[in-house]
Amino acid sequence: MKAIVVANWKMNPATWRDAKKLFEAERKAAEGAKNSVVIIAPPAIYLRDLSSGYRGKKISFALQNAHAEAVGAHTGDISLAQGKDARASYVLIGHAERRELGETDDDVRKKVLAALALKMIPILCVGEKERTQSGAHFEVVRAQLRTTLAEVAPAALKNILVTYEPRWTIGKDTTMNPREMHEMSIFIRKCIVELSGDTGHSMKILYGGSVDEKNAVAMLQHGDVRGFLVGRASKNALEFAKLLQAIDTV
Ligand code: PEP
Repeated sequence: MKAIVVANWKMNPATWRDAKKLFEAERKAAEGAKNSVVIIAPPAIYLRDLSSGYRGKKISFALQNAHAEAVGAHTGDISLAQGKDARASYVLIGHAERRELGETDDDVRKKVLAALALKMIPILCVGEKERTQSGAHFEVVRAQLRTTLAEVAPAALKNILVTYEPRWTIGKDTTMNPREMHEMSIFIRKCIVELSGDTGHSMKILYGGSVDEKNAVAMLQHGDVRGFLVGRASKNALEFAKLLQAIDTV
């Protein structure tokens, strides 16, 4: 099965000219990759131009965030429907950097439901801020899943990519140990089974947090994950190409 690689460009690059260059290089890398499917989440301002100029099938597009309401007085926000109209078929929801700005599990829950209603695929991010020996991180993740998936019909779960991104590994030098990720993947499925029944067993789980060409292979082999949410290594075309090449060796 091919790995799902989500390139979260965040608020990069600074100009449209550089966005086109980055996309062109990542398009080539994605089209040469045998073992990955690629989803690019550019800043929303670049989305329509990038997607309308792309004719291939290997890359899909994602929003980095969206408002749950369809239209309205929400200055500075964009809606899921607007993103879909610009050819985004996925949407990041509940990214740790949005949660730090005040996004709550309840906001995330509404966005997940709104995305599913539009037939967009939520890339639902969960994960603790910090980790101690106490095991409290499991309860943090359980609570996030319980609230954010509470109203999702069991049959719709297959349309969600649950992404475990512990805050302490995002943008840092530390990454998760694949064995611990494996444990977390099992735990996430168990929580979803408790909530929604057997369909939880087949959830697709991604990992995010300092993924690069050096750690991706071990994570795919031993972490029980279907792919990655990639920040820094996706804003540099060379590193992104190396990551896809590493995944090709699995
Ligand atoms: C992210 O922000 O989703 C992320 C995983 O970033 P990085 O790969 O840079 O840690």
